[in-house]
Amino acid sequence: MNILIVYAHPEPTSFNGALRDLAIEVLSAQGHMVEISDLYRMNFNAVTGLGDFTGERSDSTRLSIAREQTHALETGTIAPDIAAEQAKISRADMLILQFPIWWFGMPAILKGWADRVFARGFAYLPGRKYDTGMFHGKLALVSATTGTSAETYAPDGIDGDILSVLWPVHNGLLRYTGFDVLPPYVAYMPGRLDQAGRAAQLDAYRERLLTIDTTPRLFFHPASDYAPNERLKPGVLARSGVQRNV
Ligand code: FAD
Repeated sequence: MNILIVYAHPEPTSFNGALRDLAIEVLSAQGHMVEISDLYRMNFNAVTGLGDFTGERSDSTRLSIAREQTHALETGTIAPDIAAEQAKISRADMLILQFPIWWFGMPAILKGWADRVFARGFAYLPGRKYDTGMFHGKLALVSATTGTSAETYAPDGIDGDILSVLWPVHNGLLRYTGFDVLPPYVAYMPGRLDQAGRAAQLDAYRERLLTIDTTPRLFFHPASDYAPNERLKPGVLARSGVQRNV
């Protein structure tokens, strides 16, 4: 497979950096082609705006990011740093997002990467979402680290279920655009473990990377489970772990 790792940590010797390096080593050894977007090292501009559009605007009187994204893609005038990232995604069979959980989400540089790169016309269009998403056939994995323990991210933990915390990424970004999504790999509080504990986390990630093919994907309800108002049909049991029957 062609695998793109998007890495969002400012410190190369961080534990996130160790997880990134491990993934490169393990996946390359299996014969995969691995490409990296090291967002901090690239000094990636995370702020969408006028600079994303290098040609004549669709509407110069009022800025609609989504409309201008579509127009810029149609006219080949999207900013080169966005085009380069989009080309990497197009080449990739699998996307790995490697990041520390910051304020219950992705670091701003990665969120901004998504805002700019997952542009309308490239990542989604009317009628092209979820089951019919533009990235249908591609696979994604979130590999994240936390500052607190697995217990705090249990369903009854003080931070809430990790799958709920990651739902905006898993469902809102990846599944929305058509990816199949692997269960996340989460290294809980590496900063508060001893060296043996961190080594065990690296071993566990290695095992996850070696079992990609056989690991069941996260469950997302198919389109056929939804009524025309896009709510689960009566009688369909909510199974995503985040949605619930009301
Ligand atoms: P590091 O601190 O870089 O590394 C941890 C340890 O691993 C270090 O001792 C390092 O030397 C060691 N290490 C590095 N490489 C290796 C290796 N190869 N082998 C063994 N050891 C190694 N946490 C939450 O849970 N929820 C939040 O909402 C949240 N919000 C945050 C918001 C901000 C702005 C910030 C800065 C932090 C937040 N945190 C939060 C904490 C954050 O998630 C953790 O600090 C982070 O995930 C830890 O990962 P790291 O890569 O930065 O670890």
